[in-house]
Amino acid sequence: MVLAFPNTYSVGITSLGFQIIWATLAQRTDVDVRRLFTDQNDKLHRRIDLFGISLSWELDGPVLLDLLENNKIPIWSHKRSEEDPIVFGGGQVLTANPEPFAPFLDVILLGDGENLLPAFIEKLHELEGISRDKKLKILSQIAGIYVPAFYEPQYNSNKELIATKAIDSDIPKQITKQTWKQNTLSHSTVITPEAAWPGIHMVEVVRSCPELCRFCLASYLNLPFRNSSLDDGLIPAIEKGFAVTKRIGLLGASITQHPEFDELLTWLDQDSFEDMRLSLSSVRATTVNKKMTHLLSRRNCKSITIAIESGSQKIRDLVNKKLNEEEIYSAARYAHEGGLSRLKLYGMVGLPTETEEDIETTSDLLLKIKRKSPSLKLSFGVSTFVPKAHTPFQWFGVRTEAKKRLQKLGKRLKPHGIEVRPESYGWSIIQALISRSDRRLAPVIELVRGSQNTLGGWKKAYKIIQEKDTYSSTNSQLPDWEEIVHNQWEHDRILPWMHLNGPLKVEQLIKHQKTL
Ligand code: SF4
Repeated sequence: MVLAFPNTYSVGITSLGFQIIWATLAQRTDVDVRRLFTDQNDKLHRRIDLFGISLSWELDGPVLLDLLENNKIPIWSHKRSEEDPIVFGGGQVLTANPEPFAPFLDVILLGDGENLLPAFIEKLHELEGISRDKKLKILSQIAGIYVPAFYEPQYNSNKELIATKAIDSDIPKQITKQTWKQNTLSHSTVITPEAAWPGIHMVEVVRSCPELCRFCLASYLNLPFRNSSLDDGLIPAIEKGFAVTKRIGLLGASITQHPEFDELLTWLDQDSFEDMRLSLSSVRATTVNKKMTHLLSRRNCKSITIAIESGSQKIRDLVNKKLNEEEIYSAARYAHEGGLSRLKLYGMVGLPTETEEDIETTSDLLLKIKRKSPSLKLSFGVSTFVPKAHTPFQWFGVRTEAKKRLQKLGKRLKPHGIEVRPESYGWSIIQALISRSDRRLAPVIELVRGSQNTLGGWKKAYKIIQEKDTYSSTNSQLPDWEEIVHNQWEHDRILPWMHLNGPLKVEQLIKHQKTL
């Protein structure tokens, strides 16, 4: 088997999800797994039975096709024969909305890999020797296993998706994402100087987040919120890592929401960890306190990261951030008093109802933090709002005003010594295109693979496919770019991922959007 990551070794090996899948497979005696990255790989077999891919970022998607092609595997699943491997995929992108990639994959594993992957492998062993089609039929009966070829999208004459239906009565109509419910989560199985964070041992503290910010995929797609137990999960995992490296990273959508986070900090405050270099992923501003920042300083950590989303209270309320201005100032003060040298803030532009005034308010807030704590290095990472499947904001489009607003923040803040790190507006558009499209995007992805995977390449490919009637009927021509990327969708619209059950039903997501 080959397990591929559509990016470099350094990026792939820093993905805890990829490490865990690889370790789960490598421990099995019935699977011989080799890793494949874009810049290096283990020695590959002459014959491959299974080709797996982990996709956690939309923009890595076209690279999947390059990897298949380089390994002489037909890129379209319907062109694969009995001799070809079964190509399967998993990860956040494919769990949220796999449809743009569905025609390239034989099997998609929806949800947490802990149970799903062993069930998949074991069933495949049982099915050795039978035809590919029969194998896929049987696999499609396992909870969480989606075989796209057994589902057919239907469109009306307005190029609107009206349903995605199982092609036979014995194929499940809906597939439900699987959730790992044990009290231990994952930790690194590979520690290497070549990782994007060299030599780090990563420990997953929580999965999902109870805060439910309305745009947040990490929270909504992974519900319910789960945490690793302190005594049986976190402490042994940290001890194991610390025996081989000084660099420990605590990961999770919102780690300070762990019910025993304070106890964890107390445990980390022991002399034997004096030379530990501790990093935390983003923390909630309201949970930052003296104890935390002092400990971080003592554990050789220089900075803390907080997502404020916006400086405007109106926008923070809109996204359900539950954070006020005073709490943001307090977090900055604690960072400074605790001896940290840097505060990294994250925000977004282009959220629904946002105005120029909200952007001004964001600038004012950052400038005020800088004035209050001048010795603190302040950086502001800012992205454009991109709608994600299975969140209450999935119906909102990308706002074109975002581009100028990113620039405006840079112009106002940089002269005052605040580092502004905007994400590319252009690539956010492509992310939105992938996150809200259906299978009609697949021929575009085919065209943009390799050297065409540029912003201009995407637009050109979309136009080419739109002009050609490449898909099965005129009804199924590509919809307008604008419609997928920028338009606000009606709540009664049939969404490309509606045959895939996420944690919350559409009615609940609408309710969450409306309670704002
Ligand atoms: S606090 Fe952070 S992780 Fe939690 S829901 Fe909000 S954005 Fe997502």
